[in-house]
Amino acid sequence: MIKENISNIASSIPSHVQLVAVSKTKSVKQITEAYEAGQRDFGENYVQELIEKQVKLSTDIRWHFIGHLQSNKAKYIAPFVHLIHGVDSFKLLKEINKQAEKNNRVIDCLLQMHIAKEETKFGLDEAEIAEIINSAELNQLTHIRIRGLMGMASNTADTSLIENEFGQIQAVFNSLKAKSAGNLQIDILSTGMSSDYHYALKHGSTMVRIGSLIFGEREKI
Ligand SMILES: *Cc1c(COP(=O)(O)O)cnc(C)c1O
Repeated sequence: MIKENISNIASSIPSHVQLVAVSKTKSVKQITEAYEAGQRDFGENYVQELIEKQVKLSTDIRWHFIGHLQSNKAKYIAPFVHLIHGVDSFKLLKEINKQAEKNNRVIDCLLQMHIAKEETKFGLDEAEIAEIINSAELNQLTHIRIRGLMGMASNTADTSLIENEFGQIQAVFNSLKAKSAGNLQIDILSTGMSSDYHYALKHGSTMVRIGSLIFGEREKI
């Protein structure tokens, strides 16, 4: 079933859009099933859960960290993480850079933009993004690369609001693209989940993060 779900989703997205299978709360067995169907990009929200799974699974999996990362935990994922989607402060960016350097790596990051009406979602507003991008210190962080933006739309049935929010982040993404230079290499817009990825695709998404449509609904915690 996981295999069919992945091929159904893959056939509904353009070939230049990457599919990240969100495997939080899902077992190593379920992830293996997706892996055997050819899926290589997986997303996790919790550091502890990610590192437990990572050691048990194939080393050619590209692990995406899509949760809220606390600075003091960056060191645990720095040795292997492929892309960190939720960067929401310069302080965190500096810590990722430090840990990446220790591991002799350059770690790709996305800045998380707050687009939803809900207060609870993390992220930066447009002015805070500009502050990071324009910071004189940014080009000293030689072990990170900012690849683009990540955003989550409001959890609502109001599809025009959802489209409006995805349109907002797309506009900022497009304006950043023009500034690509040095460790600012903007080409990834991570928007869209199971319930709203069709709307995200209409607004320039290059990477969708999909969990329940692949693995089934998660248990409510
Ligand atoms: C859980 C989660 C997803 C996937 O959600 P689904 O509705 O299961 O597709 C995507 N992005 C983030 C940041 C998440 O936390």
